[in-house]
Amino acid sequence: MSEQGGRRLHITGRTLTFDADPRINADAARYTEKGAVLIGDGRILWCGQAGDEPADLSAGAERHNHGDDLILPGFVDGHVHYPQIGVIASFGAQLLDWLEKYTFPEEGRFSDAAYARETASRFLNLLLANGTTTAAVYCTVHPESADAFFEEASSRDLRMIAGKILMDRNAPETVTDTAQAGYDDTKSLIEKWHGQGRNLYAITPRFAPTSTPAQLEACGTLMSEFDDVYLQTHVSENTDEVKWVAELFPDARSYQDVYAHYGMLGPRGLYGHAIHMDDADLAQAAETQTRYVHCPTSNLFIGSGLFDIRRTWNAGVDVMLGCDVGGGTSLSPFATMKAAYEIAQFSGYPLTPEQAFWLSTSGGADTLSLGDRIGRLAPGYEADVVVLNLKSTPVIDQRVKRAENLRDILFAQMILADDRAIRAVYANGLRVVG
Ligand SMILES: [Zn+2]
Repeated sequence: MSEQGGRRLHITGRTLTFDADPRINADAARYTEKGAVLIGDGRILWCGQAGDEPADLSAGAERHNHGDDLILPGFVDGHVHYPQIGVIASFGAQLLDWLEKYTFPEEGRFSDAAYARETASRFLNLLLANGTTTAAVYCTVHPESADAFFEEASSRDLRMIAGKILMDRNAPETVTDTAQAGYDDTKSLIEKWHGQGRNLYAITPRFAPTSTPAQLEACGTLMSEFDDVYLQTHVSENTDEVKWVAELFPDARSYQDVYAHYGMLGPRGLYGHAIHMDDADLAQAAETQTRYVHCPTSNLFIGSGLFDIRRTWNAGVDVMLGCDVGGGTSLSPFATMKAAYEIAQFSGYPLTPEQAFWLSTSGGADTLSLGDRIGRLAPGYEADVVVLNLKSTPVIDQRVKRAENLRDILFAQMILADDRAIRAVYANGLRVVG
């Protein structure tokens, strides 16, 4: 830990954190109009009403007064591709064309360690500028891309999950490995980075069509060899993709079932999209406690389909939100929450702002099995904190003036705000933005 991390901070403003699941508890949001947070050694020491701070903790602390800004836990993102930040907003393709036309050529450049490092640095700065302090991140097939990412995350002392992609067929040579090389490289990256500082590793096969059965088998083996690493991949994003998987794996009951066959489902499994699922898939995900990551701006932008959050929740499956840049159109959690709201509207479900903010903080942290470390303003939690200007644009300002309650204020942010609302970000107790 850096020297600065040992410094004690006393942060004041409005505070918001979730103590419970707002889907089942109407009082889940703990909001304090004049709140305070004490931070020391990278941890939250205390959070409560300003004026009630324990004197022994607040004495000598550096004061950061955020006035009527809103202090909340740093945002959590369950699915993003750092190497695609340069091709965000590329025109006119659906998933399989998108990969061929934009993704694979760009990802091919990441065998160059310097290019990977520069991109990882730029990506993390942009992510933090949007208030996100933890993300599950795809690198490229090149081990250099994962090294570059973890080096940059470490230098900022961030709680990040990432992994090198495994891909040994149906893609250009510049972005493929082999079943054996993918296994070997993943294993040495896990040994190098998992649990190193705040870094965590995710075994990262891109998706079933670009891995041979032998490679998927190797992923299952890695899952059983390391019982606390994650596995992240894509499932049932686009209907052409679903058809292709059925051709490639004719014996599987469904797309998700391919992963089940190789022992890749479970509570550490983070499955992006999961749009075109049948009831048996949802039951299987609930049974194995497999997690889904809803990526709404991406699903709209590349025309993949409409995720049904209510149906998925009702089936007992844990869901979190992801921006899925470069398929997604924004690193901003506000944009992701807004699109999640809009997509839920198609199935007549009004996703509440409390649910959306919970999904983007403590609910997301729970889905990542990190709910005891990040995502809340509570003693002992890692001090990842974001401060929001609640009137960051004239339109938001005039809307918030009419707000009758916290829900109105939060809803105006999730529909109207962007990175201009991010006043400050603290990561592991250090002020890294603002
Ligand atoms: Zn993705």
